[in-house]
Amino acid sequence: MSYESKTLKQFGMPAQKRVERTLLRILLKYDGAIKEFGAGEKIVGEIANEFALTERQRAAFLETIYRKENRLKKSNLWHRLLFRSADSLAKENLVSRPSETLQLTKRREWMLTEKGFDAALRLCDVPISEKENLPTKSFEVQKIVNKLIESPKAQDYDPFDKSKKVVKKTQQAVMRNRAFRLAVVEAYEQRCAVCGLKIKSPDSIKWEVEAAHIVPNCSFGRDDICNGIALCHLHHWAFDVGWFTLRDDYKVLASPEIQHLPTDFGKIGGYEIFRVLADQRAKIHLPSRSQIHPHRNALRWHRENIFHQQCL
Ligand SMILES: [Zn+2]
Repeated sequence: MSYESKTLKQFGMPAQKRVERTLLRILLKYDGAIKEFGAGEKIVGEIANEFALTERQRAAFLETIYRKENRLKKSNLWHRLLFRSADSLAKENLVSRPSETLQLTKRREWMLTEKGFDAALRLCDVPISEKENLPTKSFEVQKIVNKLIESPKAQDYDPFDKSKKVVKKTQQAVMRNRAFRLAVVEAYEQRCAVCGLKIKSPDSIKWEVEAAHIVPNCSFGRDDICNGIALCHLHHWAFDVGWFTLRDDYKVLASPEIQHLPTDFGKIGGYEIFRVLADQRAKIHLPSRSQIHPHRNALRWHRENIFHQQCL
């Protein structure tokens, strides 16, 4: 038995397999990515709490002799166990290594892979179909997110994706749809572009805000960040049915029909949600980089095809 295994046993540390499973589970809670395990990292204490580790176990260390430098190095036993567990998950291709993630996100993190994401969902008894609704990143989807954010959009941008006419969805198309949602929601900082609402579920896993297509999916709109906008449920619905649209200067244009609505229509308490749209003169909340703002070609299509201009 190695010195490390002996020390783990001596301190009664949890079995590595159990730590691996906990890591996978906890990754879901952290949107799919966690930093390396060092002193002061929240996650280190959080998992230790799950295993009810004692102070003695948390403070235990290993002594390693570095022959080359002829010095003794002490390393924290618990951090090392976490690292070994993550390393083992990486060998099974369930997470990416911090060195790989760094190239993608500029952050040294362990990030779930698609395979790891599925495994984590199984461990948490969450159906795989829920995948679409979670803000969890995966290494493969993050790659697509990067492409969506970086690719420049030409003047003659075409917001239609002809490949969507194919009935059977490929795995790539499913991942691209998730990447679209993650990219849009993150670019708008989880906030509705119209009303600024930013709320999430009590377990911190789901944001209320949605990634709306400007040219909708059913009209073969592209899963592109500039064919997208982050909206709360209510404004997403109102945008999709044409109660309002956006002008080229990103100001809300409300349907004139709103003026003719009965006063009790769309009222929450004293707040008239639709009339507020008609009065809204300011620009919507947009990401700081103009490159990823909604494209004019997509907005024009929405104004011409979805928006209700005519008074009844
Ligand atoms: Zn809203």
